[in-house]
Amino acid sequence: MNTTTGTRLAASSTAIEERHACGAYAKRGVAIVKGSGARVWDAGGRQYIDCSSGHGVATLGHAHPDLVEAISSQARLLITCPETYFNDRRAALLERLARLMPDGVDRFFLCNSGAEAVEAAIKFARLSTGRTEIVAMRRGFHGRTLGALSATWNPAYREPFEPLVPGFRHVAFGDVDAVSAAVDGRTAAVIVEIVQGEGGVRTQPTPYFKAVAELCASRGALLIVDEVQTGFGRTGRWFAFEHHALTPDLVCMGKAIAGGVPMGAVGIGPRVGRIPTGSHGSTFGGNPLACAAALAAIEACERDGLVSRAAEIGERARMRLEGLPARVVREVRVSGAMIGIELRVRATPLLAALLARGVLALPAGNTVLRLLPPLVISDDELDRALDLVEAVICEAASLLDTGVGGAS
Ligand SMILES: *Cc1c(COP(=O)(O)O)cnc(C)c1O
Repeated sequence: MNTTTGTRLAASSTAIEERHACGAYAKRGVAIVKGSGARVWDAGGRQYIDCSSGHGVATLGHAHPDLVEAISSQARLLITCPETYFNDRRAALLERLARLMPDGVDRFFLCNSGAEAVEAAIKFARLSTGRTEIVAMRRGFHGRTLGALSATWNPAYREPFEPLVPGFRHVAFGDVDAVSAAVDGRTAAVIVEIVQGEGGVRTQPTPYFKAVAELCASRGALLIVDEVQTGFGRTGRWFAFEHHALTPDLVCMGKAIAGGVPMGAVGIGPRVGRIPTGSHGSTFGGNPLACAAALAAIEACERDGLVSRAAEIGERARMRLEGLPARVVREVRVSGAMIGIELRVRATPLLAALLARGVLALPAGNTVLRLLPPLVISDDELDRALDLVEAVICEAASLLDTGVGGAS
C-alpha cells in the first residue's frame, strides 16, 4: 500500500468512526493499523514508538509470535466453551494463576475486563461478609460500570450517572487514620490500587499498606487489591502487592493478563467464603481463546525475563528524566515500567506534540503525562522515546519563558 492510498483509507475510516462510534472517546487523530514489538504504524505508513501499550495492555508488545501462535491454534480447536463444562486450557491457566498468587489465593473467577473483575470482587466481598459497605481511595480508579464506578473517585466520571451503588465512601490515599475511621462492622471491603494508575502513578510506603491490611483483618473486612493496571509485571514484580509482602483477600486482574486479548480475573483468598453455585457468572468468562492467550502471555513474560525488565525500564527512565526543567515538571514518579511525569501545565498539548513526533503516550488526569511502554521495548527505542519526551517538555518550558501559554 502506498502512502497516498494509506492516507485516503485513513481519511475514510476516520470519517466512518466519527459518524458511527458513540462519541464517548476523545480521539487522538491517527488511525493505527499495525504493530510489531514496541512499534505501531498508522494508515499512512508512519511509525510510532508505543509508550502506552494500548492502555497498559500490550506488555509483550504487538504481534508477539507466541501469542499469535497460541491464539491461532486455539481458534482452530475451540474458541468458546462456557464454564458449565470443563476445558483443558482453562484448567492449565487456573493452575498457572494459582502458582503466581500468594499461598491460599487459589480460586479464581474469570471474566472479560478489569471492570468486570472489580464488579465480581465487590459482589464476593458482600456475599462473604454479609456486609454492604466498601471503602475506596481518593484518586482511585476501578472502571466505568456502575459498581466499579461507585468505587472510582473522579467526580467527573461519577456525577453524570448518579445515583450510584449505595455504601461506597472514599478516604485520602495514604491516610491510615482515615481508613481506621471508615472501617467498621458494616465494612465488607477496602479496595485499593498499590500504584494508582489513572490517579497519576502514585503509591504509598509499605507501613501504610500493612496497616490497611491489619485494619481489615482485625475488623472482619476484606482487602481487595486492584492489580488491573499493575499486574503481570508492569511494576517490576508479577504483582505490585509483592513489593509490600501483602496477601490480599481478593485480587482484581485485567489489562495485560492475556497480552491484549480481552480478559479479567479475580483471585480469591482463604478469608473469602465459599462462592455459592449460581451466585455469579459470565457468558464469555473463562473462554478457551482468552485462556490460551493468557497462558502464552504468562509463559513469554517469564521466559523472556520481562518482569525484571520492567524494573530496568523504570531505572533507565528515572535517570533519564531526572534533569527535566522544574518550570514545567513538578515531579517524576516511577514504579517499574509505570512512569508518571507530573507537569505544571496541562498534559494534552504535550501528548499531541509527542504524537506528532512519533511517540504514543497517555495522560493520567489533567497534568500527568504517563508512559506505560511494552516490556519488550529495546533500550534504543526507550531512549529515543525519552529524548522526544524531554524535547517536548523543554519546548513547553521555552514557551513559558517567552510568556506564551499559561502555567497552572
Ligand atoms: C483500567 C483499569 C480498570 C478497568 O479496566 P477495564 O478493562 O477498562 O474495565 C480497573 N482498575 C484499574 C486500576 C485500571 O487501571
